[in-house]
Amino acid sequence: MVSFMPKKKRKKREPSKVWELYKVDGKKATAANKTCPKCGPGVFLAEHGNRESCGRCGYTVFKTNKK
Ligand SMILES: [Zn+2]
Repeated sequence: MVSFMPKKKRKKREPSKVWELYKVDGKKATAANKTCPKCGPGVFLAEHGNRESCGRCGYTVFKTNKK
């Protein structure tokens, strides 16, 4: 009896979804140009109408309307 264990569990290439996020976030952040103070530079805040939030740590900043 021969126990045969296939070693085909190895993933060759994993398309980094990080870059996809960067593209989306970067696009939005270009206008706002706001980065997450918690995550540091490179992580942008996504705009949500009256607030901006970080998709990474959940940091949220409410926009203050100028009067
Ligand atoms: Zn963050």
